[in-house]
Amino acid sequence: MKTMMHKDWIEKYSMDAFEKQYHYDGKDLGVLILESGIQVKCWTPFATSVILHLYQNGSQDRESILQFEMRREEQGTWTVCIDKMYLNHYYDFTVAFGNAIAEHVNDPYAKAVGINGDRGMLIDLSETNPEHWDEDMNPNAGLQDSDVILYELHVRDLSSNDASGIVQKGKYLGVIEEGTRVTDGSIEMCTGLDHIKELGVTHIHFLPFYDYGSIDESQPYRRDVFNWGYDPKNYNVPEGSYATDAEDGRVRIMELKKMIQGIHQKGMSVVMDVVYNHTYHTDYCFNRLVPGFFYRIDADGVYSNGSGCGNDTATERSMVKKFIIDSVEYWAREYHIDGFRFDLMGNLDVDTMNGIRERLDQVRPNILLYGEGWILNTVPTKKDVSMANQKHLGKLNHIAMFSDNMRDCIKGSVFEEDDPGFISGNVEDVSELQRGLMGAPSWAKKPEQVINYTSCHDNYTLFDKIALCNPGISFEDRVRQSKLATAIVMLSQGIPLLHAGEEFLRTKVDRDGTFVSDSYNQGDDVNGIAWGDLLKPEYRAVYHYVQGLIAFRKHTKALHIENVEDVSRYYEFLECPDKALVVCKVTWEQEELVMIFNGENQEEYVELPWENAGFFCYVDNQTAGIKPLYDMEKDVVVSAYTCKVYKRNKG
Ligand code: CA
Repeated sequence: MKTMMHKDWIEKYSMDAFEKQYHYDGKDLGVLILESGIQVKCWTPFATSVILHLYQNGSQDRESILQFEMRREEQGTWTVCIDKMYLNHYYDFTVAFGNAIAEHVNDPYAKAVGINGDRGMLIDLSETNPEHWDEDMNPNAGLQDSDVILYELHVRDLSSNDASGIVQKGKYLGVIEEGTRVTDGSIEMCTGLDHIKELGVTHIHFLPFYDYGSIDESQPYRRDVFNWGYDPKNYNVPEGSYATDAEDGRVRIMELKKMIQGIHQKGMSVVMDVVYNHTYHTDYCFNRLVPGFFYRIDADGVYSNGSGCGNDTATERSMVKKFIIDSVEYWAREYHIDGFRFDLMGNLDVDTMNGIRERLDQVRPNILLYGEGWILNTVPTKKDVSMANQKHLGKLNHIAMFSDNMRDCIKGSVFEEDDPGFISGNVEDVSELQRGLMGAPSWAKKPEQVINYTSCHDNYTLFDKIALCNPGISFEDRVRQSKLATAIVMLSQGIPLLHAGEEFLRTKVDRDGTFVSDSYNQGDDVNGIAWGDLLKPEYRAVYHYVQGLIAFRKHTKALHIENVEDVSRYYEFLECPDKALVVCKVTWEQEELVMIFNGENQEEYVELPWENAGFFCYVDNQTAGIKPLYDMEKDVVVSAYTCKVYKRNKG
């Protein structure tokens, strides 16, 4: 009986008539603190009764202390207003559909929850703000997109290793501990946030810190209780395992705000990784309030699975779209988030993504938006829906996408571990690298639509991938290839992204010494950033090199060509047949750049057709930075797996 009824509902959900009758446009879903009391509202059009339950705490007590009947109101909503004396109580709903047994369900619009996110909490958000929160703002609001240097980080990874010197390990508050160092008595290096700042990063992009489901928040100190967090449970609430107290729903909110404020005070911005494309499982609260509504599901109950995680969010339905846009706006306003990275953005529709852009532009200018524009096998529930993937980038307003073309052409395919890329001497498709340098993979129109990277949390780390696709490679060559890969990213048009620790040869190894790919649940021993490596001269040298590359990028206008449809007219490439060599000259306004990338296992001589007078070298195999190193040579020699960059100012 129940299944038949749901089938009937599912067939209606994507029809205009349903959206007309039940779309609720109000902004007050969830909890609203009014002068007169606390209003609680939820959207469940086909329910026959809804009861609000109150509890003393977030999980232990099984019986609610109070129940309030909710009233059916306009457009499928249910509401009740209760006395303010119930502030800081926890809550959930029971929802009945006809004769079926009413089930307990959490509020999808909850802004605070108890431990493990099973119940909402009635709180006054204004009481969660740190001191001077109203003065807090994005310190990099004036940057153009290509000025951004992204650093992709997991909250735990920054501090979990003992050598971090960070006290609040695995916590939001650990991210902002200052003055942390690693030392062997003679050498002393910054760790944690000081390190990231010193590197020159502008934006820290965090792996998910909304509330996710795969971690037991009562055991956050266990080193094996770890997850990347791509399993959303409560979209509008911070994850509890990163808070010093996951029981009290207010603490995670206060501590995340403190983290964001601390990063802002350090001159950096915060990007949040958001996963609206699927949920942890389909027993998600929204699916209990409106069965079958939140997902792409056919009338037989089969879930679309473009995400590869068992379900796809039906973003094309008006109330799902509204939920997502409201959620992103909420994070931008309440938590002062400066940018959003959309996981599997190719599973979200173009209208929803453009709706987010439009809404955020009303909040603040220059909120950065980018995502994974992969083309996925998802089945939308309406006709003529375009997905926000690389194929449809032209339909998106001011939203960038990761360049898998560039990633794979630099270091080799992420799907075949022994496949080498340009940095390991693979000359097969040098033209792809040329397009990458210009920020112009086939699917992009302008460089600011492109995120360049060689590694991120997924797959193997860059340093490990290099070892896997170059059997028997020496440590020195592994280091050279790693530096070359990061150099290509930093010297390309577009927006560069570094995987945290890539700047000193991050590795992820198991106890038995094998490299770990996709370490999403592997624990701190595999995932934690090994700060002690900075004490080794070879690792420290790579760090300084990457620091120099970032500084050079920031000081070189010719690497920030924006709002230009055809960048290629500023680039001149030399023909270098039979060599893993890419040589180009960039002329932009008052600057000229000559860049030579040698992916070959041998030293290469290059005869340049350009006049060398006035050109200085800023980047070579050893050094990178903003200080001119030496004049351009008559015959340029570029050693194996390295690059050279020269610059001259005209006039
Ligand atoms: Ca959680």
